[in-house]
Amino acid sequence: MTSILEQEKLQAAFKEYIDYDELLNCTRCGFCLPSCPTYIETGNNEVHSPRGRIALMKGVVDGLIEVTEEVKESIDLCLGCRACEPVCPSGVNFGQLLEQAREAIYQTKKMSLGEKAARNIAFDKLFPNHDRMISTVGLLRFYQKSGLQTVTRRLGILKFFPEPLELMERVLPEVPKRREMKRRPTYITRDGQEGKKLAFFSGCLMDTMFLDINNKTMKLLQYAGCDIVIPDIQGCCGALHGHSGERERAKEMAKKNILAFEELGIDYIITNAGGCGAFLVEYAHLLKDDPKWADRAAEFTGKIKDITSILVDLNFHKESLVLENQVITYQDSCHLKNGQGVHKEPRKLLQAIQGSQYVEMEKASSCCGSAGIYNIIQSEMSMKVLDDKMNRVKDTKAHTIVTTNPGCLLQMKLGIEREGLADKMNAVHIVELLLDAYEKHH
Ligand code: SF4
Ligand code: SF4
Repeated sequence: MTSILEQEKLQAAFKEYIDYDELLNCTRCGFCLPSCPTYIETGNNEVHSPRGRIALMKGVVDGLIEVTEEVKESIDLCLGCRACEPVCPSGVNFGQLLEQAREAIYQTKKMSLGEKAARNIAFDKLFPNHDRMISTVGLLRFYQKSGLQTVTRRLGILKFFPEPLELMERVLPEVPKRREMKRRPTYITRDGQEGKKLAFFSGCLMDTMFLDINNKTMKLLQYAGCDIVIPDIQGCCGALHGHSGERERAKEMAKKNILAFEELGIDYIITNAGGCGAFLVEYAHLLKDDPKWADRAAEFTGKIKDITSILVDLNFHKESLVLENQVITYQDSCHLKNGQGVHKEPRKLLQAIQGSQYVEMEKASSCCGSAGIYNIIQSEMSMKVLDDKMNRVKDTKAHTIVTTNPGCLLQMKLGIEREGLADKMNAVHIVELLLDAYEKHH
């Protein structure tokens, strides 16, 4: 129960943070309902639909309802997948409304000292600082390589953790050595030949835990004829901050990244993580009211391009790509499709692989339930969504599930483990498969 004073603060925060005109854009047509995973999984409960969430936000801003536990639960249970956006005839930008509502709730929330400290460590000390990310991820390598992982598994200690955490431990990639994570070059050319000059957004987790995928991305770009600049003063995109009600911190990270890329004289900034890319294109909106940064943010946003889009632009699908006897299916990254509008390009590349069969999965663009850290903090709903997804995956009879985002990749690996399919199926990032298909015949 919140006190009257807390309720007043919450309502004032909803009024301050939420874009009322955007709320009014919703005509309550309901076209978005069938695309919303939480609406479906809760047995068509309007409270957990996009239209219902918008109605609740408007009810609070209009002073008609309080920010009850039900309102908070409705906001918390949203995956932020934005599947409701492309189907909305009024063009309601639900993702932005969701972030604003979360900011209103978190900025007024009474937090324990422990919770405050945990958020400060994660949001201020860890994600924005590459060296600390390396040290933290390095602890995981110690766990994996010191024998601790073997002992922990043998003793069954992980059984005492919630199921998604237990499974996540099994599907995490092998963490690279510390010196490999520190060794990132800032400029890569193709054997001295001059190519198309691009910049690469390396990210925080992508450049530590998923370093191998970053390295493979740059190899692919080189094969496609590019020179790559990787500014070392860039940092985390701020998506985790933005989606967790920490928009002021996210703005600081946006400014750091704009500064890192703006003097490079390049046309495109390439990303290989759907979630990061979708937040990078939000910088223009994030900084639109800041006279010093608004134009610079818009320019930055205009240069963001996913790896699959640039590869298609560069006709990489016309290269000889060969993989024998594979059945391949694709799981859309929600943020790549709904946040950046990229869905044809990954398919075009995968369908160009000779010797293999591409099978389109039913509802491939529906969320897999990963959604950042949603699969840990809302594990029950996340696993329901994942179970549905795995039923569709099994229908394709695929050997390989391809994704374009690290969170989706881990979630699909987790789904494979849960279903006991590890001997029949694997999940990969698209650059891993494309590089394999290219190098086999070159
Ligand atoms: S489709 Fe758009 S306008 Fe219609 S109810 Fe959903 S959010 Fe509102
Ligand atoms: S973002 Fe996803 S889960 Fe949230 S309301 Fe839209 S469709 Fe539903």
